Amino acid sequence: MKVAIIGGGHNGLILSALLAEKGVKVTLFEAKDKLGGLTDTVEIKGVKISRASYVLGLMPEFLIKKFQIPILKGDVFQTFYVNGKAIPFWRDKEKRIKELVKVGEKKYPEFEEKLLKFKELLSKKFTFVKYPPTRQEIREEAEKEGLSEFIDTPAKKLLSEYISEDYHYFFIYPGMEKSSAYVIAYYFSTDWALVEGGMGTVAEKVAEYAEKFGAELRVNSRVEDIIIRDDEVKAVVVNGKKYEADIVVIATSPLVFYDLLDINVKLPVSRWRKYNIILRNYPRIPEPLKGYEYSLLDTEVGEILIPSYLDKARNGIVLETMGGLENVKELLGIKDEDILYIDKIDGEVSQKLYNLPFGNLNHLPMTDDFLFEKRLPYTTKYKNLYLCSAGTYPGGQVTGIPAYNVANLILSSLSG
Ligand SMILES: Cc1cc2nc3c(=O)[nH]c(=O)nc-3n(C[C@H](O)[C@H](O)[C@H](O)COP(=O)(O)OP(=O)(O)OC[C@H]3O[C@@H](n4cnc5c(N)ncnc54)[C@H](O)[C@@H]3O)c2cc1C
Repeated sequence: MKVAIIGGGHNGLILSALLAEKGVKVTLFEAKDKLGGLTDTVEIKGVKISRASYVLGLMPEFLIKKFQIPILKGDVFQTFYVNGKAIPFWRDKEKRIKELVKVGEKKYPEFEEKLLKFKELLSKKFTFVKYPPTRQEIREEAEKEGLSEFIDTPAKKLLSEYISEDYHYFFIYPGMEKSSAYVIAYYFSTDWALVEGGMGTVAEKVAEYAEKFGAELRVNSRVEDIIIRDDEVKAVVVNGKKYEADIVVIATSPLVFYDLLDINVKLPVSRWRKYNIILRNYPRIPEPLKGYEYSLLDTEVGEILIPSYLDKARNGIVLETMGGLENVKELLGIKDEDILYIDKIDGEVSQKLYNLPFGNLNHLPMTDDFLFEKRLPYTTKYKNLYLCSAGTYPGGQVTGIPAYNVANLILSSLSG
């Protein structure tokens, strides 16, 4: 039984590991000259930057432990900085709630209690699944616990009922305002943390595990075609050569194989940009943020992370941000002469750099058109051709959940 996996992002790698440890013969093909996809540490001037994704918070703990991914955590996971006021989100629930109440957010405790209850429901019943649950299925379970507002209310509207407008963008990203409030629960986590050495360590650790169990991980191996006969997958074509396989898994953005999968989605190229900056000196942190500078800083000019406060393996002072460069420099008093190097990636660049159609960082948007049963399932209309990436259920980010679910599907099909 031979399984071919297309794409060596964290999902493709985790799938390789989970299959290989059960004795399945796995070959993974990655187009780039390195593994990891959007979990990518690059070394510039001897300093390590997380070039694309930068914090880990949505991967289940059992996967983090299994692959021994080294996590670095401070007491505060994220700090909201708005109107000159800092609100630290402590991992400790009591301390966290006190901070919000202190700034006048009287309804926050009720909101968080419901939010965590809804997240628990998702994690118990709608995370480790064989196919995407429908919105109606989740709604029915949520109703039983008095939580249907997280399904039926648009995200921003729900936030408005509990929290002052100034703080809404702590809980959602721009563009998600009208999506179901489900997205608030999807992103909220008290586990957001750094990975030692940058996000590339996720890929390194999982690849090490997969190879220990005999998985073959091939780089510089672009899959150009998938051969299907009588509605059943037969082989992949890699750099012009045919590789026969009993099972093929597409662990790239599903849009890489859109014609084969009949996905007719044309998206605008995503408008995010990320700056990875190597500094000569630590920046001037505004007074209210002092003591929390190691956490993910959610500011009016965008998210800012200075991983070097916690992660000495970076070998230098690194600032990673999805905010505007000039605004971030102004906020933190950074002068041109303080900057040793600036790396910039955006939607355009990542199409080439990471083979990422439309530069969509979650492969498909996290909006109502692509959530619940509208997110892609793990199976396709072709026998033995599976999908496994951020574009499948439950959605984007570094979660490993699609990989875990697809591994279970394949293993049960092999044993059944
Ligand atoms: C700037 C940025 C910041 C982000 N920040 C975070 C964050 O802090 N935390 C978080 O959890 N998430 C974050 N994300 C989102 C997250 O990184 C992705 O959703 C997730 O990593 C996708 O993982 P994946 O394994 O499904 O796919 P990918 O990582 O996209 O991997 C797919 C792989 O397939 C390969 N491939 C493509 N076509 C072919 C082909 N034809 N043949 C062979 N191989 C092919 C690609 O080269 C790539 O390596 C961020 C993303 C970006 C871009």
